[in-house]
Amino acid sequence: ARAWHLKSRPEAMPAPENFELREFEQTQMGHGMIRVANQWLSVDPYMRGRMRDVKSYVPPFAIDAPLEGGAIGEVVESNAEGFAVGDMVQHGAGWRDEAVVNAAEAQKLPDLGIPVQSFLGFLGMPGMTAYFGLLDVASAKEGDIVFVSGAAGAVGSTVIQIAKAKGMTAIGSAGGQEKCDWVKSLGADAVIDYKAEGELMPKLMKAAPNGIDVYFDNVGGEHLDAAFAVANPGARFAECGMISGYNSTEPMEFRYIMNIIGKGLNVRGFIVTQFMDRMGEFHADMGAMLQAGKLTSQETVHEGLESQVDAFIGLFTGGNTGKMLVKV
Ligand code: NDP
Repeated sequence: ARAWHLKSRPEAMPAPENFELREFEQTQMGHGMIRVANQWLSVDPYMRGRMRDVKSYVPPFAIDAPLEGGAIGEVVESNAEGFAVGDMVQHGAGWRDEAVVNAAEAQKLPDLGIPVQSFLGFLGMPGMTAYFGLLDVASAKEGDIVFVSGAAGAVGSTVIQIAKAKGMTAIGSAGGQEKCDWVKSLGADAVIDYKAEGELMPKLMKAAPNGIDVYFDNVGGEHLDAAFAVANPGARFAECGMISGYNSTEPMEFRYIMNIIGKGLNVRGFIVTQFMDRMGEFHADMGAMLQAGKLTSQETVHEGLESQVDAFIGLFTGGNTGKMLVKV
């Protein structure tokens, strides 16, 4: 089997030379193990954090070891009760063509008549991030004016749709006209192209003439500062991600951060894993929205294991609309 290995730690933007596709010694098939032919591999922005050698909520990737990440595949050999050849499963041994994993750490995928890779996107980890970040962390409710950055990405595009399904006003921001048009087609009330000429803050003021009650932050930096500036008193900020800083070697600057005090803002960070015990609630509500025709998804698919590094780097250059995936 082959897997992508981390050769060296990126210092700023990750580059192809930080990675190498190598043969690796496959884990033995012990009791309770399954062998999975991977079909879909996920790339996610949080993986950039794991390439840094620092203590965090997930341990760093080791140099010269296979990388890990979300994956979906078909069971081709099973030593585990309840798992049969042909079952489709999701697990954490991605970045490789074949995985041997402990079945206790894999989830069998239900056959819902929707493409299996949705479980890496709006019905999986990014979807849960959107759902609980919006409804729990930010306590967003009907009538709220919600601003979400990274609105054409996996998490952001799901936030827009949940917000609309729940009767909120949704304002998004994304890079480029094409992405903005797509976000609009998802039902967004206004969309800002942050890459178009001009400063972000006046664009946000124009898109949100009545201010914002909720900011769902995927980007940090200038977006977060603009949100501080236009926030209504008592607004809730769900701090989900700050991708604009993940490859930056410069400190972030904020001009409007003192609004946290004067406006009594509630700024709250979260990690999706804290909501894992509420997955049933997520599936039930998302299933209902899906059936009601209120959710759609889009994917940007890179073909072949060889393309995974390009897909990963593409997250930081805006290469994806919707969920970024690799098809093995
Ligand atoms: P996306 O699908 O949104 O992909 C990343 C997108 O970020 C790109 O397409 C690009 O879109 C945008 N982007 C990249 N660089 C910049 C930049 N410098 N400034 C502004 N936008 C940029 O990824 P996800 O949906 O998977 O993740 C979105 C965010 O959510 C990330 O910050 C991630 O770390 C976070 N996250 C947090 C979780 C948690 O538990 N807290 C769980 C999952 C994700 P564009 O072309 O519009 O610039």
